[in-house]
Amino acid sequence: MKNTTELTQIYLDANATTPVLPEAAAAALSAMENLFGNPSSSHITGLKAKNLMEQTRLRAQTLLGSGEGKIIFTSGATEGIQTSILSALIAAKSRMSADKNYSVLYGATEHKAVPESLKHWLTVLDIKAEVTAIPVDQFGLLDHDFIRQHAPSALMICTMAVNNETGVFQNLKSLEATIRSANSDIFWMVDCVQALGKTELDLKTTTIDYAPFSGHKLYAPKGIGFVYIRDSAPFTPFIAGGGQESGLRSGTENLPGLAALNVIFEMLLSQEGSPFSSSAQLTQYRQQIADTLTECFSDIVFNNSFEHSVATTINFAVPSFSSKEIMDLFDAANIRVSSGSACSSKVTRSFVLDAMGLPAWQSEAAIRMSFGPAITQAEVDTACARIKTASQALTQSCMILDDSSDISDRTDLDGLLQLRSGASCTWVFVDSLSKQALIIDPLPELKQRLETLLECQQLTLVAAIDTHGHADHVSGREALASRYLAEQESDHLGWPVTENRVQHLAQQLQVISIGTKQLLRLPTPGHTSDSISLLLCSAPSASNHTAEHTQYAFCGDTILMGSLGRTNFESSSSVALFNSLKLIRDSISSTALICASHDYNNEFTTSLKAEINRNDLLKGVLSNQLSMDDFQQRKAHLDTHLNDEVGTEIMCGALIGNCDKFKIKEYDAFSLAAAMKQDENVCIIDIREPHEYALNHSTQSSLNVPLTRLVQFIQEHQNQKNRQWVLVCRSGSRSMIAAQAMHRLGFEQVSHLKGGYALSS
Ligand code: PLP
Repeated sequence: MKNTTELTQIYLDANATTPVLPEAAAAALSAMENLFGNPSSSHITGLKAKNLMEQTRLRAQTLLGSGEGKIIFTSGATEGIQTSILSALIAAKSRMSADKNYSVLYGATEHKAVPESLKHWLTVLDIKAEVTAIPVDQFGLLDHDFIRQHAPSALMICTMAVNNETGVFQNLKSLEATIRSANSDIFWMVDCVQALGKTELDLKTTTIDYAPFSGHKLYAPKGIGFVYIRDSAPFTPFIAGGGQESGLRSGTENLPGLAALNVIFEMLLSQEGSPFSSSAQLTQYRQQIADTLTECFSDIVFNNSFEHSVATTINFAVPSFSSKEIMDLFDAANIRVSSGSACSSKVTRSFVLDAMGLPAWQSEAAIRMSFGPAITQAEVDTACARIKTASQALTQSCMILDDSSDISDRTDLDGLLQLRSGASCTWVFVDSLSKQALIIDPLPELKQRLETLLECQQLTLVAAIDTHGHADHVSGREALASRYLAEQESDHLGWPVTENRVQHLAQQLQVISIGTKQLLRLPTPGHTSDSISLLLCSAPSASNHTAEHTQYAFCGDTILMGSLGRTNFESSSSVALFNSLKLIRDSISSTALICASHDYNNEFTTSLKAEINRNDLLKGVLSNQLSMDDFQQRKAHLDTHLNDEVGTEIMCGALIGNCDKFKIKEYDAFSLAAAMKQDENVCIIDIREPHEYALNHSTQSSLNVPLTRLVQFIQEHQNQKNRQWVLVCRSGSRSMIAAQAMHRLGFEQVSHLKGGYALSS
């Protein structure tokens, strides 16, 4: 590896977990080697261990101002949350009366451990109570009116001191006033995991009943945590057994973890020599990072209000970039951040930002940068320098426009590019010699990216064409056309008015030119009455186009991968589709690449040959074995079984073909090195995006073929299907799907590096 990977990583994901500080690691090691006694043993080794444990407890009590309350050591915060909820609900159950309705309340932005544990224990304890989320405002602050209204009939209320995705803190004093004035007896748990070391806590001056904490969020190892229990709060042990922790939490104690925690507490308590920065210093660090981000991504939006957040968390989104793209970019620049979103169905979005009512794109594109209080000025400086390098790589690959940077260092784009938003595709064809571009099925979500590309590459747009009037989304065509093609006369799909025609089979087809290529317009009604297929062809030496000339067929929704376009819209006709499918068969070769306007299954592209192998209905039509009547019947039946939505998208065709993925051969770093030694024809393809590749790539990987260019690569290497291609990426997931796509199209020797660079560097 070269470039940035040679440098150490900059870890900006402290809210997920932190490294163990060297002093804490040394204390843990020493506990394993020397203070290894069982604190329950009465010999000297045991007594020493017990002493360490009690010293740690004392420090925790001092740090948290726990007064008469108990501090019990646990395995982490999730256990502390169980302990608290179980204890509170058992006590609350005994107070319930049969004729009343009850609820349990939790903040809508709470860590999932809280609502999930509430539901779990309500079921286990057979308590009938509604689990109700307390709404938050746009800053993530809890709705006090809602609490006032609902707390009187609630058994328990769970809130958090500091949010893990946004760093937003609640004003615990004013929250307490609201809660207690509404219900003085309600059991109150405050998840303090993200507050430790970042805000002052003086628990004895509050009426908080339970407060779970975790060691691994503040430089101690995983597997150690603690929970505060107010002296008057009911308690039921979550783990029974040997009676450790005065019978409150059984199980032999985690001495190494405790030893590490002890050192962290000592650092937090001592002003002098502590590696932890003051909150004023941390605020400065946040500003420096936020300023750098703003300088690099001028349209960045911060999802958290700094006024309401601890200084160690920044949550942001960059318009027209998905969180995955930014994550991949930063990972390549050796900065670790998190996507700040949870994966639900096919769409990744943050339920925390959703609860705050932020626009969907901000939630989908959210990136969380979080650092611990032990971060240094040098680390912040390096992080900022790397953010700048990363954004320069984006500029060079024409993902962002920066007027001040040098155009000459940009790589000229040539050929076909597949861009996507969700499962929908936009196709861009560029002829680098003439600097002309063609855009097919432009999606509105990609407007900015397309404009940046055209301007950065200094391209002339020849046409922006839709393959049909899309039912599932608004086209982005008009916006592009009004900006770049104002002078052009075209039909409603954007096909330019032209007198030029070529002979294609028995028909005269309208044609436009792009560089040395020709784009033929083939009417293929069926899915909609206005559906067309666009055939991108090499110009024939004679005047006749034959099927062999077509390199790419943009068939819209007529032939989808593993499916055929639905024909149950008002302007649909399955009879017309039947004829259009035959027309396409006669117009292109069986291996010409079909570029559809949707890719529901990460297959990128297909061909008639590949589709016939798995789609009986299509096979029946193309082999003339299925009559039009039979086709109509089977198609109507299929459309009634259409799975209407994929995530938030409408399905444009029912999946009928086998979309099962082939099990691809996998290498690890060692077996790959061995294979390369044995066969020098093994060719490694790095399939990350060019900006990731530019930021760090192995000297071994000779080729960079990003996923956006995979279809062109497949087209250009149709005659090298037997070659040993090994695909690699960051984590092994992109390489896997790309390898499966290639294998389906006949690249039988394709394999990938399992775990990607992440596991082999
Ligand atoms: N609560 C919050 C706010 C958290 O951030 C986390 C960890 O992500 C937890 C609870 C769970 O903590 P642990 O990993 O110690 O079980």
